Amino acid sequence: MKNAVFYINANKCILCYSCVRTCPVKAIEVKANSTFAKIIDSRCVNCGSCVPSCPTEAIVYTKSIEQADAILSKEKNAILLDPAIAAEFPDISDYRKFAQMLRQIGGKNIFDVSFGVDLMTIQYQQIIQNFKGKHYITSACPVINDMVSKYYPELLSNLITVLTPAQIMAKIARKIVGNDSEIIFITSCTASKSAYFKPEKEEHIDCVLTFEELRNIFLKHNISETQLEYSDFDGPQSRMGSLFPIANGWIELTDLDQSIVNSDIITIVDKNNSINALDEYSDKMNQIRKHLNMFYCKGCINGPGMTNPENILLKTNLVAEYTKKRANSISIKKWQDYIGEYSQIEMETSFEANDQRISVPEERVLETLAILKKEKSDYTKGCQVCGYKSCKDFAAYVAVGMAKSDMCLHNSLDHRNHYITSLQKKIEEMQHSHEEVKIEQEKTKKDKELAQQAMEILNAMLQKLPAAVVIVDNSLKIIRSNQSFINLLGKEALEISEIIPELSGADLKTLLPPSVLQYFSFVLENDDNISNKDIQFNEKLINISIFSIHKNKIVGAVLRDLYAPEIRDEEVINRLNEVIDKNLQMVQKIGFLLGEEAAATEQMLHSIIQSYKSNKK
Ligand code: SF4
Ligand code: SF4
Repeated sequence: MKNAVFYINANKCILCYSCVRTCPVKAIEVKANSTFAKIIDSRCVNCGSCVPSCPTEAIVYTKSIEQADAILSKEKNAILLDPAIAAEFPDISDYRKFAQMLRQIGGKNIFDVSFGVDLMTIQYQQIIQNFKGKHYITSACPVINDMVSKYYPELLSNLITVLTPAQIMAKIARKIVGNDSEIIFITSCTASKSAYFKPEKEEHIDCVLTFEELRNIFLKHNISETQLEYSDFDGPQSRMGSLFPIANGWIELTDLDQSIVNSDIITIVDKNNSINALDEYSDKMNQIRKHLNMFYCKGCINGPGMTNPENILLKTNLVAEYTKKRANSISIKKWQDYIGEYSQIEMETSFEANDQRISVPEERVLETLAILKKEKSDYTKGCQVCGYKSCKDFAAYVAVGMAKSDMCLHNSLDHRNHYITSLQKKIEEMQHSHEEVKIEQEKTKKDKELAQQAMEILNAMLQKLPAAVVIVDNSLKIIRSNQSFINLLGKEALEISEIIPELSGADLKTLLPPSVLQYFSFVLENDDNISNKDIQFNEKLINISIFSIHKNKIVGAVLRDLYAPEIRDEEVINRLNEVIDKNLQMVQKIGFLLGEEAAATEQMLHSIIQSYKSNKK
């Protein structure tokens, strides 16, 4: 079996669906989760229409240069040259230069396919002139033959069962060079790469090169016509067969009437016309009552294997000029001799149906149409932007998994609109929450500022307190202390505070004796406060209160030097107040017993307080 001719480079495919839309037989599938398009070889008719439609040049055809090189290195080889060559090389003025260039690359026998055209035309003319009530479709275009076989099998018996010119020439070449010779056909037709691969038949062609490939071979061998002499073709020569690359060129070789009124043949060229014509012919052949001369391209001068398939007018003229030269190079008598010699060759062929039409139950198509939201529209028609004939046709391909719903512009616009609406909603929600976040951030910022202010005030207050204050963590590292605390510790602490303000981070263990530290540890461990404990430290009598700030983590302490005058006075007053309070309670009890004497005791104690207060002033 021949390898696929066309394939898609998955790495280059951007899934734009352009090729899917272009393919006339829907041979390119895009599976639901696939990221690239794929050609289904059994459905492909090798027309090459998808190649120029691809924006990334992901679609290519199989090149046969290596295979051709191998054949050209052998003794028994033959090259068949398509007369469309005249349209590929406008700069080469004489056909004999082509023959010589082909010999330079290793061709031992060079045959002109135009003679195959002559023989085929004679067959066609006989069939058309011996009309027995059946109308025919010409079978000289491999794409049309494949299309009929795969998608219009009901028309298969209408294909003219005559070999193509290249196949006829392959038979002649084998007759001349030998059955064991290997044959290369050089053409503009990519479909030939697959259609002529019939190893079991005498008309088999071993290798097909496009003109594009031939140019590369000439380049590789550095071959230029200016350095070469003329060399004629081998084997039988044609007169007018070189007109074949122009779509109705072969009819010119016959005496068939070509006028619109009297002609029995309608010539159809080009992709869309071909499809429409086959549809119509299949439906209304009895009313049309004409033979169809069909070419998928605008004649072989427009084949996908040309380096530039455009400029049809120029190419038509080039082929006409070429044909004129060929016709002048051989006498009618000589040509008739050739025809006489080779017309006995068996040119009959046959075609087999290879039905590739998809068949999908109506129910599934309707379900798919509903998914596509097309069930209420006239789905037998459609915008055809997807490349399918109708919405129903498209739905059938979606149903069998060969197409994706987003290939429908209407459907994907609908999805897009939904997506945009939901996106807008999300953006609005985000904007809203963004504002909320902004408000929250403002609030946090304000809270932080307030906390900062409070901290500064607290710090200022702490520093102004006459009592010494220290706050430590559970490893007895100082978190904060005030100036009174530093003063209380003495000279060494004062020096440290010049380097470490507020002694933050300093180790309390190096500043207070263990006898004092034990109280801090006690409060940290037990979460139990110590109030007004008098201790001796640095020859001072210190009153200390330690309280838990954060259970087992942070404690604070207030220390007062009871020898300091301001503290001492205050302390005496406080303690006398305490004595008075305690005494008052007692006095109240004793008052019952002693009467007015108790009031005198209270007066005496108050006078002591007043005297201390006036001393302080
Ligand atoms: S070569 Fe033709 S038939 Fe094959 S996939 Fe391309 S467009 Fe379709
Ligand atoms: S044209 Fe086809 S092969 Fe090329 S990128 Fe688009 S989908 Fe892919």
